[in-house]
Amino acid sequence: MAESATAALESLLMSSPFSDPALLEATDAVPDHRILPDVTVVKVGGQSLIDRGRAAVFPVVDELLEIKRTHRLLIGTGGGTRARHIYSLAAELGLPTGVLSEVGSAVAGQNASMLGYLMARHGVPVVGSTALSAIALYLAESGAAIFSGMPPYDMWQRVPATGVIPPYRTDAGCYLVAETYGCANMIFIKDEDGLYTANPKNDPSATLIPEITVDELIEADLPDLVVERPVLELMRHARHVRSIQIVNGLRPGLIRRAVEGEHVGTIIRSAS
Ligand code: ADP
Ligand code: MG
Repeated sequence: MAESATAALESLLMSSPFSDPALLEATDAVPDHRILPDVTVVKVGGQSLIDRGRAAVFPVVDELLEIKRTHRLLIGTGGGTRARHIYSLAAELGLPTGVLSEVGSAVAGQNASMLGYLMARHGVPVVGSTALSAIALYLAESGAAIFSGMPPYDMWQRVPATGVIPPYRTDAGCYLVAETYGCANMIFIKDEDGLYTANPKNDPSATLIPEITVDELIEADLPDLVVERPVLELMRHARHVRSIQIVNGLRPGLIRRAVEGEHVGTIIRSAS
């Protein structure tokens, strides 16, 4: 049975165009293999957390170090205010999305470096995108590893419909790591209790949405979101990470509870 399925797939791949629905279905019929099924990816926000400095960063670092005793963590970093600064500068100079993507990556990388130095004495390494191939070893050795959340598209970044800001930034990058590795969980650590009906920083009437599906969220067409919009598109086609949770990293204890599967912020699901 398995052999005939392999033969059928092979003959389709050799003879049909890649757009052939039968070919696509044949590749879809093969059971998926989760690469790192017991790992949780957490994204530490750039603007929302790291830019707040010691008061916000130290408690999150302590909590992550405590969690890594019992759970395996891949810790991705955001960019934040310095990334916004470089985007505005590069855009004003008339530079294209691919260049903004490249220079913006440096900022998420700086945040990864700084978290790495803070966690170094606990044996947590910072890994580049090529070193992700050795990630199993790092995780087995130390329980956690830090990576820059920006996906390494650089000049190959997709161009947005309007303007030049790279659409796939650190939320998307962290999510793609979780989905590609078939991880158990994707948690975004930010500075709000979750997703609201509008940005709570400038709309006091905004209310918290504890749980929502991607389709409902796109349908709701909210003025602003707590995660990058392209993450919703990526989730639509997800095979593994079909829900994400946004938690408030300024409230102690919530990260562990989310890693353990508790609902403590907003859960966004691929489908109901
Ligand atoms: P990161 O630090 O991970 O890059 P961002 O600053 O990009 O995070 O996103 C988090 C911020 O999004 C929050 O601080 C909040 O002010 C803002 N935000 C915008 N729209 C919403 C919304 N609908 N619900 C909650 N927060 C929102
Ligand atoms: Mg952001």
